[in-house]
Amino acid sequence: MSENERGLIIVHTGAGKGKTTAALGIAFRAVGQGLRVLMVQFIKGSWHYGELDAARLLGEDRMRILPMGRGFVKVGVEKPDPADVRLVEEAWQFAREEIFRGEYDLVILDEINYAISYKMLEAEKVVEALKSKPEGIHVILTGRNAHPSLLEVADLVTEMREVKHPFQKGVLAQRGIDY
Ligand code: ATP
Ligand code: MG
Repeated sequence: MSENERGLIIVHTGAGKGKTTAALGIAFRAVGQGLRVLMVQFIKGSWHYGELDAARLLGEDRMRILPMGRGFVKVGVEKPDPADVRLVEEAWQFAREEIFRGEYDLVILDEINYAISYKMLEAEKVVEALKSKPEGIHVILTGRNAHPSLLEVADLVTEMREVKHPFQKGVLAQRGIDY
């Protein structure tokens, strides 16, 4: 690590599209710089996203994506399903260990904000880990409604704002753009 280099804590939040794809954009750039990237997906699990195959094309030693959820979780007034909570806890344990292991230069915690806002994971645990993480490791946290304590600990926060989305006129997710 040169004098200028430091690991950043980056948050992509907001209701507009682009939180995960912006993280993948950084991942692509990082791989080009010889950095190693890990993306842990906290919620995704059932759909097949194009980035899973793209990561394999780059080579799993450069970029690894691990879906550790089971797709869309049921939310609302009810408490989250304990099975989903367990998956989130496992994903967090794994991601935390990987951040501290230092094998990856960039660790993306995809949709972790969603898991926190639905009370499947405590924000304090994540903040504590981020504060004590190895200095050179970059971490990106994505998802709507990022917890205020995460915004505080972050170095870079971007909020995606929806101006227009095809969904508004009934156009569903497009292959290669949305998945
Ligand atoms: P993407 O993965 O495309 O960057 P995202 O991470 O910003 O999206 P999520 O909250 O993770 O958004 O939503 C995942 C899915 O919902 C994606 O298929 C995405 O295209 C879609 N989506 C994102 N924003 C909107 C929106 N404002 N209206 C409708 N669908 C959306
Ligand atoms: Mg996303």
